Amino acid sequence: VIDEGMPERTVKTTCAYCGVGCSLKAEIKGDQVIRMVPDKDGKANHGHACVKGRFAWGYATHDDRILSPMVRDSIDDPWRKVSWDEALDTAAARLQATQKKYGRTSIGGITSSRCTNEEVWLVQKLVRATFGNNNVDTCARVCHSPTGYGLAQTYGTSAGTQDFDSIEECDLILLIGSNPTDAHPVFGSKMKQRLRQGAKLIVIDPRQIDLVRTPHVEAEYHLPLKPGTNVPVINAIAHTIVEEGLADEAFINERCDLAAFQEWTAFIKRKENSPESVAEESGLDSEMIRSAARLYASAPNAAIYYGLGVTEHSQGSTMVMGMANLAMLTGNIGRPGVGVNPMRGQNNVQGSCDMGSFPHELPGYRPVSNDEVRATFEQDWGTPMDGVPGQRIPNMLDNAVLGTFKGIYIQGEDIAQSDPNTHHVEAALRNMDCVIVQDLFLNETARFAHIFLPGTSFLEKDGTFINAERRINRVRPVMKPKTGKAEWRVTAELSDRMGYPMHYTAASEIMDEIARLTPTFAGVSFDRLDKEGSMQWPVNDDAPFGTPVMHIGEFVRGKGLFKLTEYVPTEERTNRKFPLILTTGRILSQYNVGAQTRRTENIKWMEQDLLEIHPSDAELRGIRSGDWVSVASRKGETVLQADVTDRVNPGVVYTTFHHPESGTNVITTELSDWATQCPEYKVTAVQVTPSNHR
Ligand code: SF4
Repeated sequence: VIDEGMPERTVKTTCAYCGVGCSLKAEIKGDQVIRMVPDKDGKANHGHACVKGRFAWGYATHDDRILSPMVRDSIDDPWRKVSWDEALDTAAARLQATQKKYGRTSIGGITSSRCTNEEVWLVQKLVRATFGNNNVDTCARVCHSPTGYGLAQTYGTSAGTQDFDSIEECDLILLIGSNPTDAHPVFGSKMKQRLRQGAKLIVIDPRQIDLVRTPHVEAEYHLPLKPGTNVPVINAIAHTIVEEGLADEAFINERCDLAAFQEWTAFIKRKENSPESVAEESGLDSEMIRSAARLYASAPNAAIYYGLGVTEHSQGSTMVMGMANLAMLTGNIGRPGVGVNPMRGQNNVQGSCDMGSFPHELPGYRPVSNDEVRATFEQDWGTPMDGVPGQRIPNMLDNAVLGTFKGIYIQGEDIAQSDPNTHHVEAALRNMDCVIVQDLFLNETARFAHIFLPGTSFLEKDGTFINAERRINRVRPVMKPKTGKAEWRVTAELSDRMGYPMHYTAASEIMDEIARLTPTFAGVSFDRLDKEGSMQWPVNDDAPFGTPVMHIGEFVRGKGLFKLTEYVPTEERTNRKFPLILTTGRILSQYNVGAQTRRTENIKWMEQDLLEIHPSDAELRGIRSGDWVSVASRKGETVLQADVTDRVNPGVVYTTFHHPESGTNVITTELSDWATQCPEYKVTAVQVTPSNHR
């Protein structure tokens, strides 16, 4: 951390890590950032920040940054530094040659949840208007895509229902598959504060997260279910509420689709959904499930908060709908202190989804197949558009292995490290004719790239991020792009060269276009955000100052829709060869695959990705804390150091994924959510044995 006394100026911007979206002030001396301090006026953080926001910005000036564009003919050749003109000419020519040889739909793009909305908007526009297809997807595919699907199906919009401050009116927090004190620290502290004031807590998580153990915050119930059994447990909670007459019938009659509710009621009453029936599969005590259900149903205001422990499953979308059902069943939706609230992992995962980064949806979650919506874009963009949904990331990779998908533009995403089944991803990338990586560092994916376009850090960006509560935050440049070119300009100039000119002179003009074409952003502009501060979408004529709480009086889709949530067990099962279930998570000081945090002072707070294993499983294998162990799945093997702990139950092991050398995704499977293909990172059958590899 640089600390050189008093700053000469400050610039307000937004943290580039988690979905809390803390407002920070960069204190600057000369052209150096000397400190990042939390902004007391920040509406998401009210003057707080965690160790990532405060201290982990040094990666922006790290020596590993690549500041010059590079090209090479083949991935076996060395990189050659070139000018921006040569790099963009080469990229355009290579993409066009690929399309000419293999067809219009043989190329596509991936947007980044770490980039601004304006940068994301241009990449999806590049794919749709310039490439002429809908092969655009986002890294949300591998985290919260089931949230988008599940909440849209039940409530009509793909976003969390509440503002963060709403928790102050909450009496009962149902926390599922989320570890906010590590992954969303500022909101985690707010949650802890509310619990210390007397709100009650139910945790559904295979592991004893810190909130289960924190003094004065003891959870009323911790349901340490077996990984992969979220759906039967949520069904059993709903079953109990219906069976014991605890449902909010007045709310259901007024706000919900009654035919769907009746069908759902018949389903949920089935014996197989009772706590007694799911006890063995989930590993939970049936009476504890019933007690938790009663507590949730009886609280005046009960709110669900959840994370990737819900979504990254083969039934992630089912589980999201199960939670949405539960909130409707008990009338816990449509006012402060309640709701269904996804804890978004990345700073702009909400925004990257809002901006139309899905192959089947245009910005604002409108189907590409809708002629009327498409016509609006065609008129504004002056080009015909494809009405056929494009390929998702897993489809692109599968088709690349088959030889029909041959070119990709990847903005700020390291799919070779962060996507599951690494060997498959590498085979796909190796089989492409044109891989363009736009990033800060030569990441793992860049090993397979032909063109490297240097990206900019958040300190060099001008734009907006959207946090987990739909808050549109300004990101203001603290310094000029160290690469010599704003990232949105790179995309625009690539498009120019491919025959579809993009005429923007400033990032604010891109937001103006977003507002023009996306009804939920109709009232948004840089000017307003700078004058009035951040706002929560929808911001339009109906809600000129934004919308902290959604679904008041009426759901976005009209009537709330109960959806059937049939439990289909994951295909990933334990057996004698792979008897343990591996699940994953994060630690406080690090972020995702660590590309940023490992290049900052925060590295001091982290040693290795450790494998947590229960004492009984460790003893059986002769493993002690600190020993190196082999972790082998049906897909691959890696080596980690053991941490023997009762945080996990017997039969479950747990690790983080912050170091590339840990190779966690070498062992994860290719199984994915049935609706969205979000990978099932949270359930991998493994064997753990002592290792002498290191
Ligand atoms: Fe806030 Fe999250 Fe950044 Fe921490 S990492 S400062 S909680 S936005």
